[in-house]
Amino acid sequence: MEYRRLGKSGLKVSVLSFGSWVTFSTQADVALAKQMMATAYDAGCNFFDNAEIYAHGKSEEIMGEALAQLGWRRDSFIVSSKVMWGAVEDPKPTQRGLSRKHIYEACYQAMDRLQVDYLDLYFCHRPDPDVPMEEVVRTMTELIHRGDVLYWGTSEWSAQQLMEAYAVARQYHLIPPTMEQPQYNMFHRYRFEIEYGRLYDAIGLGTTIWSPLASGLLTGKYNEGVPDDSRMSLEGYEWLRKMMESDEGRRRLEKVKALATVADDLGTTMPRLALAWCLKNPHVSTVITGASKVSQVEENMQALTLVDQLDDEVMARIDTILDNRPEPVDFQ
Ligand code: NDP
Repeated sequence: MEYRRLGKSGLKVSVLSFGSWVTFSTQADVALAKQMMATAYDAGCNFFDNAEIYAHGKSEEIMGEALAQLGWRRDSFIVSSKVMWGAVEDPKPTQRGLSRKHIYEACYQAMDRLQVDYLDLYFCHRPDPDVPMEEVVRTMTELIHRGDVLYWGTSEWSAQQLMEAYAVARQYHLIPPTMEQPQYNMFHRYRFEIEYGRLYDAIGLGTTIWSPLASGLLTGKYNEGVPDDSRMSLEGYEWLRKMMESDEGRRRLEKVKALATVADDLGTTMPRLALAWCLKNPHVSTVITGASKVSQVEENMQALTLVDQLDDEVMARIDTILDNRPEPVDFQ
């Protein structure tokens, strides 16, 4: 495993990490969670991602119980949660959003469900237009001062919102966000590669990227149709299937088929190729992998072995197939 600093912080996070979003929501099984997390941990993974909204708190409960049973030393792993949409179904106004009240309560509930005394990373899952930036930054700073959170971050905030948070922190001597959690994969590039472009140096932004396999599309498993045991046949995820069956989805599938020849030529698999492609970007602090089976965790944790093979020539070949390299907007 390789470890990268989370932005300009001193925290070393494994470049491949593990997220619980769909699997801990639909399979809700502590034994399986333990197996998957242990497989990742044994491969050197030290970061486990979660959120209050995942299965309305159930995902945190499962991960917490798995962590308790696995009995790892607390100083050997990093665990996160995210706040925004609330953990209860049909939340009341005080049970969601980024108000001081909800951030505090969500933080303590997450610690309780995860069975930990503090959260290593705590994310604002989306921006909340109804809450002043100063309230959010001040609340996160307080949680850090109390020792309940070590590093705070954002997820899918615009570059402008991130700069505003940074400016507010500087103005009031508060703590700015350390990391962002954006989507980044071969099909989703603009924000990560262009919009955030200046933030990596300017504010030392770290990143924990999500859906590196575009929900599985980039594994090639959908090339010949939708397998029964895949995410796109799950109840509640019909929106994903619709995206895949759209014109753009069909174009993407054609590209995945072409990418499979690159994987073949390199003697590797599509999941490894797609994950390694993310790892090639030095602004990625960690790639949060998702899996529904232990064998997928085993497979995905191998991605690092491929990175050195992705030289300029291979990367250019991939870019030609993808045909989606984002260009900066020229306002002149
Ligand atoms: P991916 O895009 O990597 O999709 C993971 C899914 O792809 C798996 O659940 C599995 O689904 C399939 N898959 C994974 N590996 C393989 C393999 N080797 N072979 C075949 N199929 C495979 O990541 P996720 O979308 O799960 O995102 C990862 C994490 O990022 C989440 O768990 C969460 O922690 C975080 N996240 C954060 C968001 C945010 O807004 N901040 C939003 C979304 C995710 P199946 O087998 O069921 O087909």
